[in-house]
Amino acid sequence: MHEEVFPGVYRIFDSFVNVYLVDRGDHLVAVDTGIETTCGKILDAVGEIGKPLKAIILTHGHLDHTGSLKCLRERTEAVIAAHRDEVEGIAEKTGIEPDVKLQDGEVFEGFKVLHKPGHTRGSICLLDEGTKSLFVGDLVVERNGRLEEVPQQYSLNPEMNRKRIAELLEVDFENLLPAHGEPLLGNGKEKVEELVKRLGL
Ligand SMILES: [Zn+2]
Ligand SMILES: [Zn+2]
Repeated sequence: MHEEVFPGVYRIFDSFVNVYLVDRGDHLVAVDTGIETTCGKILDAVGEIGKPLKAIILTHGHLDHTGSLKCLRERTEAVIAAHRDEVEGIAEKTGIEPDVKLQDGEVFEGFKVLHKPGHTRGSICLLDEGTKSLFVGDLVVERNGRLEEVPQQYSLNPEMNRKRIAELLEVDFENLLPAHGEPLLGNGKEKVEELVKRLGL
């Protein structure tokens, strides 16, 4: 079960978390892997779209983002990428060591990697410059049309996470694709501005 958010970007929703599949011409790239039950949904979507899954990029290591990593490693040929500060934690949690260690500012599979430590040490946002779309992981969540910071008890350093939210104002994007909640199309930046004001940042 998947929906096309806009041409070339597909969303798979499972319980409370989103996984995105992004079309890169002859193959697909997944942003995160959801929980354990998401694997079958991802494989179904990949089959329906009809292009091979060649890469998985993890925004961070929490189990609602890495829950299907083991299954996808076994069932696909996809290369797995995560920020270098997150790789060790992911290996410990899932038993799967990411193949590619990402750094701030590099471009991987058409995404610019933005290192945003706070929620976890190696949390990243992924910027697709062509469509001005920002995949934020858990930096912010959407609820009832508004953005919120992720509940503070889930973040390693909530204060640092807040600083990272304010930094998004420097990024050129229009669409914001969160792991939790609905994608914001066109008005993502305005919604971040509104959150930054509300938090008094
Ligand atoms: Zn998280
Ligand atoms: Zn999460």
